[in-house]
Amino acid sequence: MDQSFFPERQHDHEACIHAGMAHAEAACESRNERFTANRRSVLELLLAVHRPLGVYELMKQFDWKGRRPAPAQIYRALEFLESIGLVHRIESCNAYLACSRPGRHHCTIFLVCEQCKTVAEVEAKRMQDAIADLADQTGFELHSQVLEARGLCPDCASATAPDGSDH
Ligand SMILES: [Zn+2]
Ligand SMILES: [Zn+2]
Ligand SMILES: [Zn+2]
Repeated sequence: MDQSFFPERQHDHEACIHAGMAHAEAACESRNERFTANRRSVLELLLAVHRPLGVYELMKQFDWKGRRPAPAQIYRALEFLESIGLVHRIESCNAYLACSRPGRHHCTIFLVCEQCKTVAEVEAKRMQDAIADLADQTGFELHSQVLEARGLCPDCASATAPDGSDH
């Protein structure tokens, strides 16, 4: 079983955040886009965890520096980050996830842990090809294909294993 797609419990998370922010800065620069304070803050909040956050959660954690919270600003920042591939919307959670494989062209399936909410992004080229084939066969004009699967991550699965093999 390959667990490497899910983050190890003990890993250098500072390095994750650092890599994510560095990539975001480069991505904005190469598009001549400004990495504004709002965009930066929203991405930082998302990079702080390996699970998707809803807009309400982001609102609560956002440092507004005394200003009144404006959800539209969060949405605009998310929209931008999503448009350049730094953030993914996880439909089944109605929430947003910082991309864990930024910069790499990826056909992704999101594996969502129902217990700890951790999400792994996994390459799923064959499944995406199958959907594209299906679209061809049915004359369906495909616009987007976001694949999500729900279940338990390796950590949560072993913690709830009935035979208590973890002990
Ligand atoms: Zn991390
Ligand atoms: Zn991604
Ligand atoms: Zn889990």
